[in-house]
Amino acid sequence: MPDCIFCQIIEGKLPCAKVYEDDLVISFLDINPVNTGHTLVVPKSHYVSLFDTPPDLLQACIEVSQKVARAVFKGTGASGLNIIQNNFRSAGQLIDHIHFHLVPRNMHDGFFTSWPGKPYPSGELEKTLKKIKAEL
Ligand SMILES: [Zn+2]
Repeated sequence: MPDCIFCQIIEGKLPCAKVYEDDLVISFLDINPVNTGHTLVVPKSHYVSLFDTPPDLLQACIEVSQKVARAVFKGTGASGLNIIQNNFRSAGQLIDHIHFHLVPRNMHDGFFTSWPGKPYPSGELEKTLKKIKAEL
């Protein structure tokens, strides 16, 4: 995809701080890190989201994410790590080429620390469950 910044990095047209690369996947430091060591894992083929990426390529991405996450975790001395994968603008996706964020975490690091969960109103859990299961 010519106007995709990640495809340009993969093709060597733009520089990156490369952490790892194999035939299917590349990993490099995010240039605007949430925390020091924030690393991206990106398949070398252009797909937009979780929904259009072939399962075998997702598997390769997760395997690389595990490998690189171990290195990020140990290399930064973090006490925790988030793997985040955003799909579409409403979920915070800024580059339309699927990618996984590996974010090393420490207590009180200023990134999110609470999960804004809230209980379902009466009857909504059952309705939602039915709608989701109907799509499987
Ligand atoms: Zn791309």
